[in-house]
Amino acid sequence: MGKSVLIVDDSPMLRQKVTESLREAQLFENYFEANDGFNAIKVLSKEEVDMIICDVMMPRMDGFKLMEMISKEKRLEEIMVVMLSANRGLFDKIKGLESGAIDYITKPFHPQELVVRVRILLKMKQLQNELKTKIVELKRVTILDDLTGLYNQRYLYDTLKREYNRSDRFNLKLSLVMLDIDNFKDVNDTYGHQRGDTIIKEVARLLQVVLRGYDFAVRYGGDEFIIVLSQNTVIGSHIVAERIRKTVEGSPLLSELNGGKHITVSIGVATFPDDTKGGYEALISKADQALYSAKRNGRNRVAYNMEDENSKF
Ligand code: GH3
Ligand code: MG
Repeated sequence: MGKSVLIVDDSPMLRQKVTESLREAQLFENYFEANDGFNAIKVLSKEEVDMIICDVMMPRMDGFKLMEMISKEKRLEEIMVVMLSANRGLFDKIKGLESGAIDYITKPFHPQELVVRVRILLKMKQLQNELKTKIVELKRVTILDDLTGLYNQRYLYDTLKREYNRSDRFNLKLSLVMLDIDNFKDVNDTYGHQRGDTIIKEVARLLQVVLRGYDFAVRYGGDEFIIVLSQNTVIGSHIVAERIRKTVEGSPLLSELNGGKHITVSIGVATFPDDTKGGYEALISKADQALYSAKRNGRNRVAYNMEDENSKF
């Protein structure tokens, strides 16, 4: 999108000189003008502006006052303000920069200097924006699993630690539902790794459908997933676990991918404080033990803890 600049000065001649210099250098697409701070605010209320080049001394509302107004508006905080002033005093320069101006140019200015400085500022801004986008993307990548788009182990540990402490402090329940695809090695061996990946992705998608609206799912590793259910889960963890088990077993797409045989999962559930109060790692370990017990008892079932080996809902 083309960049826009607003030139604020009470002298029409100066506005014209600034506009012409910038136009010649083709630094902006849209040019707006205002003869004082008050009219500048009017323009800003209607237009999206990237930069303001602003005189300091103007009737009605001066440059400092304009800066103050801009700094109060969230929508305007990204705008770069360059102060352009006949006042060469050090005090005004400092005041201008301290009040949020990104640069301060003294009049009479040389058009070339203005153009060069504006070009640098625009470049700086562009780099800053690119960096911001990259940081957002990087943050996203560090907490998500590549294959499935679910959260990854790193996110689980960070979040679970926090959730655990919160549940402890406020006397709330916290459940982990840990699941692992049954005999998944066979699927890989029979249909290849790629088909295996497709099946993992589809299981992940089904988890998200079942969980829609509350709590979160993690790809814990390989063919293993963890769902974190905190106190505001309306539905009990056993109902969620059983719903997941049935959904996977009943998926026509999954059995089609597996040559007509149902894909099934074994599930272990552990709840704080019922099963352990020994920290979030202990809670994971309890869920893991329950999962192991579900495997040992024939797979395609939900188990709650080691003692409860025959539980199947
Ligand atoms: P069980 O019922 O006891 O879970 O048997 P299993 O064959 O599923 O055994 P296990 O869960 O221990 O092994 C999981 C296998 O999943 C091992 C590995 O070959 C496979 N696997 C792990 N990560 C991936 C992956 O990203 N893609 C594919 N296609 N396979 C994976
Ligand atoms: Mg498995």
